[in-house]
Amino acid sequence: MTVVSAFAGMRRVADVLFRAGCPDCRARLELRANALMLAIGGSSRTTFYSFTCTECGAAVRKPAGERIVELLTGGGVRTLRLHSTL
Ligand SMILES: [Zn+2]
Repeated sequence: MTVVSAFAGMRRVADVLFRAGCPDCRARLELRANALMLAIGGSSRTTFYSFTCTECGAAVRKPAGERIVELLTGGGVRTLRLHSTL
């Protein structure tokens, strides 16, 4: 077994659930890390996380503060870096 697959297995066991509210239908959701996406931009205005509501199907996008970014990245959420290269 390689080190990489050992870590992949470990991460699956320690699956984390994130709680988030849907602004559309007001459902309280429990989302797995793979249901969330985090985008980190150059400023707080372009740093947000997004998910699809499992109740009403709305695409939700919410601003992510420093603490949320830490929480999500630590929980294995996919992170997209939006820094401009220009
Ligand atoms: Zn909803």
